[in-house]
Amino acid sequence: MLDTRFPLWYPFQEIDAIEFKVDKVDEIERLIEERKNLYNGEIDDYKFKKSSYETEEEFLDRISVDRKAYTILKMGVAQDPKLTAWFVEVEGDLFIDRLRNAKWEVKAKIFDDLFPIDKFYKNWMYLDDLSDLLGEDLKEKFNIVDEETRLKVKSRFKSFEHPSFGLQKVIGINFRYASYLVRTRKSKLYRGWVIDTVDRLMTTVKKRYEHLLREELKGYAERIETEAPGPIKRLAAKINEILKQSIRVGREIDFSHYEFEGEIDDNLLLFPPCIQDLMSIMKNVGYLKHHNRFQLGLFLKHLGMDVEEQMLYWYNFAVDNLNISYEEFEKNVGYTIRHLYGLEGKKVDYKMMSCGTIQSTGNYYCRFQDMNIDNINDKIKEYLTSLPGQEQAIKLPMAQEIQPLVAKGNPSEACGKFLEMTHGLEHHAIIHPLQYLERAAKVSDRVKKRNDEQSEEEITDD
Ligand code: SF4
Repeated sequence: MLDTRFPLWYPFQEIDAIEFKVDKVDEIERLIEERKNLYNGEIDDYKFKKSSYETEEEFLDRISVDRKAYTILKMGVAQDPKLTAWFVEVEGDLFIDRLRNAKWEVKAKIFDDLFPIDKFYKNWMYLDDLSDLLGEDLKEKFNIVDEETRLKVKSRFKSFEHPSFGLQKVIGINFRYASYLVRTRKSKLYRGWVIDTVDRLMTTVKKRYEHLLREELKGYAERIETEAPGPIKRLAAKINEILKQSIRVGREIDFSHYEFEGEIDDNLLLFPPCIQDLMSIMKNVGYLKHHNRFQLGLFLKHLGMDVEEQMLYWYNFAVDNLNISYEEFEKNVGYTIRHLYGLEGKKVDYKMMSCGTIQSTGNYYCRFQDMNIDNINDKIKEYLTSLPGQEQAIKLPMAQEIQPLVAKGNPSEACGKFLEMTHGLEHHAIIHPLQYLERAAKVSDRVKKRNDEQSEEEITDD
């Protein structure tokens, strides 16, 4: 009988019983394809329990596919920053899905591994233990209801969760491991501890997992790099080549060859939700914080705006709302804009950041991660009420799927669902803001390729 400390799907463990050798190209391609389907939800996740009809050997054979595919992808992406970003994002989503559906005992074991005891003591704790450590009754202090009460309240409404899943338990995570939540103030921060339900802390758990995965990939890349030319290096290069052909990530999409009908504001619905929101703040307030300015500025650059056009775009709003002089504007916003075209500072021609970067860097903005859920619902409602009655009824079920994805800490999935609802496109998690625009533009008659351009580029679906 296979004996492991963690569930078989937990990747940060060696499983001796599962040994494999994969070097045939068609087998590698098949494993990659299957993993991609798993990420996209096109196939069901593996059943990690041995069925009574299986022999131990058959079971190991079946389960080893999960481990093989993970390892192959790890080898192929480790030395490729763009593929690494993609891999961390899709693996992060898969991990959190599996963790959510795991029993509480399994979750607790994995938390022990992700937030290990160190010289500062434990880094995650049950609320009662944390109360003992801090010498205060935190339940009373913050009026926290216990798990059973939460479950009772929940079950009266909709998503009743089996108690053993433990999603309604309240725990504390040391803030050193939850800096994201501290920055966005989504949970209670008290005396160095972030306190909330396991359900709401899943985003923190995911970020911690992604951090460790990135570290593991870094170590892996160094190992491959320092290895003398040999079978591992050759295999890693081969897998990378296959991945580059089958996964289109980080491809710079240049919209300067395309014409958008009307003014920029008439095309808002084609833009990713994060950009729609930043544009709306800019329009109404006339000012954005530095990183948000950078995010919107980069998007506008990729949309085909040159420096002068952008300067005018920003200046109009800044003048309308803040009534500042052109000199003041030049000093602040103007510098940022020239900077992102490589005309200031280190003279780097910056590329648009991916959703993974936006979501993991607290200063950037993702609607489905950083906006309050009530406001997200308002945005969805606003969109639905702009439609004729019959269309509203058709789109309502899709709209209802967005909130649970946000609550689960799956912003990219929620964004894909929003795109599905607004543009009738097949659901895919969104991993890049330009991917969102590209997919929306493909089905919109508001976007045309300029006749005078020689570019061979076409907007194609993923
Ligand atoms: Fe923007 Fe990406 Fe978030 Fe969508 S998932 S709102 S494109 S950052």
